[in-house]
Amino acid sequence: MTGQNNQGPLGVVHQQIAEASRLIQLPNTVETILKYPKRKVEVQFPVEMDDGHTQMFTGYRTQHNDVLGPVKGGLRFHPQTDEEETEALAAWMTFKCALVQIPHGGAKGGVVCDPSMLSDRELRQVSRGYTEALFDLLGPNKDVPAPDVYTDPKIMSVMMDTYSRMAGGHEPGVITGKPPLVGGSKARESATAQGAVYIIEKMLEQENKRAEDVRVAVQGFGNAGQIAARLLYDLGCKIVSVSDSKAALYEKNGLDIPRAQQAKAGENGLQDYGENNMLENTMDILYTDTDILIPAAMEGVITEENAGRIKAPKIMELANGPTTPEADHILKDQGQAVYPDILVNAGGVIVSYLESVQNHMNYYWSEDVINERMKAFILEAYEQTEKSAYEHKTTNRNGAMIFAMDRLQEAMKYRGWI
Ligand code: GLU
Repeated sequence: MTGQNNQGPLGVVHQQIAEASRLIQLPNTVETILKYPKRKVEVQFPVEMDDGHTQMFTGYRTQHNDVLGPVKGGLRFHPQTDEEETEALAAWMTFKCALVQIPHGGAKGGVVCDPSMLSDRELRQVSRGYTEALFDLLGPNKDVPAPDVYTDPKIMSVMMDTYSRMAGGHEPGVITGKPPLVGGSKARESATAQGAVYIIEKMLEQENKRAEDVRVAVQGFGNAGQIAARLLYDLGCKIVSVSDSKAALYEKNGLDIPRAQQAKAGENGLQDYGENNMLENTMDILYTDTDILIPAAMEGVITEENAGRIKAPKIMELANGPTTPEADHILKDQGQAVYPDILVNAGGVIVSYLESVQNHMNYYWSEDVINERMKAFILEAYEQTEKSAYEHKTTNRNGAMIFAMDRLQEAMKYRGWI
């Protein structure tokens, strides 16, 4: 895929930047700086596999923009990840950090691999190999990775260990999303989902609605989607549909989410929930009758081909980049509101920031303190997004992008970039 291709994530983020820039007549120089990453690297590294042969792995890291601070962003282990995807996701991180007002720039990385096919030892070696290959570019004041698709606290911990060994001293602040025992933050694993739930609770309060009156469909049942479904279920919402890449479940009166989680943990996954609740096609979840649709898996799920069939009045992007600009326009014309990824899924990076703060001061807060602080950051960003969208008479996505861009532009001026 080429960078200018409208179908790919990089084409999507470029269109989003162009659209928001046009609305505020952002100077061309600033728009150009925001379109291009500061640095992107591809690394190859060898790993000795369990059967004795050595396999080469490819990894990427894009550092998009550091005008607001050290770059920050997740690291995915996925067979289809590539340079273009990494670059797009890094750009979204820049806008996300600026929108939620944390002192970080944006980055993203990835390793091309299928972690489900690797043994624990191989996975550890891949994590070490990637960290070694990128050692010079990482650091608490340079670039701080974190979990993303198919990476977890264990992998973060091995990377922290590798970096610390190479640096010759304990360096917990080089990476976030670690297990609490080795310098991680409490409430980090649930943070992405919890942030979205705080926004939903605020919406209910604004609309004077009870959780019981709200139906939700969650597409994607990984870390973000599964925890969001569970938190909303515990709040009392009716979770009418959930799905992963193999199955989609539907129950008009609300699914039993603990039971779905149990099925997901078993051998056959969600399918084991029961025949009667299966939708024919996993993507049919998008068209269910629901008040809130939460795409929580990968990019490019809501497109011009299917946007017309989506009924949910509210779409909350827990995944990064699930909606294409064409679909955005269709949904807007249909009167549906899309709450953008850079707002909705920012709970993760906010708690990552709080984790690095704890690492820097070497003192650790309780779960309640962390959730309370994260809530304040994300609700402030929600308020700013709505305010900016209202003032510029535009969508929430443009509103959020404009607020972020203003801050980035201002910082560029202070630092003498423009
Ligand atoms: N991967 C997450 C995201 O897309 C978290 C990044 C971080 O914590 O640095 O926002």
